[in-house]
Amino acid sequence: MNEQLDRLSRLPLRDDLRGQHPYGAPQLDVPILLNVNENTHDVPDEVREAIVKAVDEAVTGINRYPDREFTELRQALADYLGHGLRAENLWAANGSNEVLQQILQAFGGPGRTAMGFPPTYSMYPLLASGTGTAYLKGVRADDYDLTAESAAAQVREQAPNIVFLCSPNNPTGTALGLDVIEAVYEAGEAQQAIVIVDEAYAEFAHAGTPSALSLLPGRERLLVSRTMSKAFALAGARVGYLAAAPEVADALRLVRLPYHLSAITQATALAALRHSSQLLANVEDIKVQRDRIVEGLRALGLTPSPSDSNFVFFGGLQDSHRIWEGLLEAGVLVRDVGIPGHLRVTAGTEAETTAFLDRLGELLA
Ligand SMILES: *Cc1c(COP(=O)(O)O)cnc(C)c1O
Repeated sequence: MNEQLDRLSRLPLRDDLRGQHPYGAPQLDVPILLNVNENTHDVPDEVREAIVKAVDEAVTGINRYPDREFTELRQALADYLGHGLRAENLWAANGSNEVLQQILQAFGGPGRTAMGFPPTYSMYPLLASGTGTAYLKGVRADDYDLTAESAAAQVREQAPNIVFLCSPNNPTGTALGLDVIEAVYEAGEAQQAIVIVDEAYAEFAHAGTPSALSLLPGRERLLVSRTMSKAFALAGARVGYLAAAPEVADALRLVRLPYHLSAITQATALAALRHSSQLLANVEDIKVQRDRIVEGLRALGLTPSPSDSNFVFFGGLQDSHRIWEGLLEAGVLVRDVGIPGHLRVTAGTEAETTAFLDRLGELLA
């Protein structure tokens, strides 16, 4: 490893990338993977067959570049989201991570700042650093709550060019009230801040949790990003998207690579969207397991945060590293997000969830 670092340091790497570490959730070969919030359910056979057929058709014509504007996909995404959105309001890329990167390329960069509220998605500072954007860390209350007053005051004080609001938040799992988003948007008025609401887990929220999509009309600096990696069980296909004013897509066209969404990706996403009801049926199943985890953890005397996502963040552990290792020995991989006494677990299938809760109970006994 040191030799590898030595060799890296001899390269003419950008100064601001020296000493940085890549994104690195462990990819271990373990039977029960509950560490990166993937959808733990396989794609249903019927959907699988539809995707294979669509990909097969896309291969006819693979000698040509794909539709650069992915028009059909943008229309299908608009239809899926509703809220009166049209194709021109939608944009997509290879995972919402690429969407976020394009936003930073277009609206961030050297001399500009992006702000997040840790603990939050660990990719925000990495994407900022990759695009030469300075990253500002906001603060949350001790219980990880973020109120409208606090968030707005911090945005007024630090005046970032870009604000990341993750709702439901990763790793804590809790959704933000729309009042927080409205207040942050207004607080960013002076410097015309771009406000990104990352709704990667929106489909897992409890019924009645409002989406920031309802705030889009009249707010041209508000961007709502979503992904097909979680609810649609398509993490391997790499499809993320955003909804915003049409001029936001015009800005992202300036930085995207030509033909960035392959014909295979577009065909896969379209086939999955045509089967959204089957895929979202699994989401209901996962929500049941998520609620079961929250109850199970409480019964063990632990302190799970309220979750509107497909994972649960919990504290109350005396030695979280010992528990993480004990779970791993039993073939259950969860996430240590670096907060002492806490771990994060993805809601699995019923059997996986049982294995996690049983083993955790044994370790705590
Ligand atoms: C998983 C996740 C994403 C999704 O990333 P993709 O690139 O679409 O796979 C985005 N934001 C958050 C907060 C996530 O946890």
